[in-house]
Amino acid sequence: MFSYRHAFHAGNHADVLKHTVLIATLDHLLEKEAALTVVDTHAGAGLYRLDGDYAGTSGEAAEGILRLLAPKPAAAVTPPAQVATKKIAKSVDAALAPALQRYLDVVRAFNPNGGARVYPGSPFITQHLLREHDKLKLFELHPTDSRTLSANIAQLEAGRQIAVLHEDGFGSATKFLPPPSRRALVLMDPSYEIKSDYARVLDFTAEALKRFATGTYAIWYPIIPRPEAHDLPRRLKTMATKAGKSWLHATLTVKSSKLLTTDSGETKRPGLPASGMFLINPPYTLKALLQPALEQTKDLLAQDRHAAFSLDSGG
Ligand code: SAM
Repeated sequence: MFSYRHAFHAGNHADVLKHTVLIATLDHLLEKEAALTVVDTHAGAGLYRLDGDYAGTSGEAAEGILRLLAPKPAAAVTPPAQVATKKIAKSVDAALAPALQRYLDVVRAFNPNGGARVYPGSPFITQHLLREHDKLKLFELHPTDSRTLSANIAQLEAGRQIAVLHEDGFGSATKFLPPPSRRALVLMDPSYEIKSDYARVLDFTAEALKRFATGTYAIWYPIIPRPEAHDLPRRLKTMATKAGKSWLHATLTVKSSKLLTTDSGETKRPGLPASGMFLINPPYTLKALLQPALEQTKDLLAQDRHAAFSLDSGG
């Protein structure tokens, strides 16, 4: 069961999508003074070394965050509308959409000496943004990653602000809902290494919405040729609509999902070609913020002509 280790995938295109959306959502929720509780049902190890063995072996960050951080000619990026008429500076960052720029700034904050040796996972990104009176609940079931997460979090000396739970996020995270301040973001980011994860996301979300209908729920999922993966956003949309809740669905595709034929004539699956984020009760500002950011991310991370993004909302 526990073959998935996020260290192999840290900083890949799926993390770029997920963490750009996470940061934009948190920024909005943190504009209000009242305490926010963030529940991260599948936290991972928290921090990753991109120059370490795991990330080096898979090289996935090279097609994700490292591509975004590499200097490029300004013309490689279509500037967002609001800067289109201004002089385009030499640095690619000068033309970046605010949500993408913000994501890169957060990653850079973990690499004060430049480059990207360290990649922050969702627990560290969230902790970086939270204020002292906010709370963070982290669930991680893998024994090694849970130990690493605890050790990484201990270094922050955040005391009671952060709880690390070596428990099933689907099984027990609803115990924190609703939180006393009645303001929460729940991030669900399973590895989907077992098929039942798709159904568990749906069951968990239904139960969470029953307990706390006004919470913000953010679900990442892989876009792969599997009926469950295809059905998940459709079912979440139906669930949100039936509950009278607003929703937002963002996807990012970086390459074709077609089978590849090797020189020896064997066929193999390409790595993950696309993924999506589905939010229930998203910030009302999110769609407008993501539109230019996803457009640029698609251009910058495209591996072939099948690169695309979509952004849809309702409710
Ligand atoms: N959210 C992290 C981030 O953005 O940095 C990455 C999480 S990774 C995609 C999924 C994690 O869920 C893995 O570390 C895996 O060990 C853990 N996991 C798998 N099943 C779980 C469960 N039922 N409850 C909690 N954690 C689980």
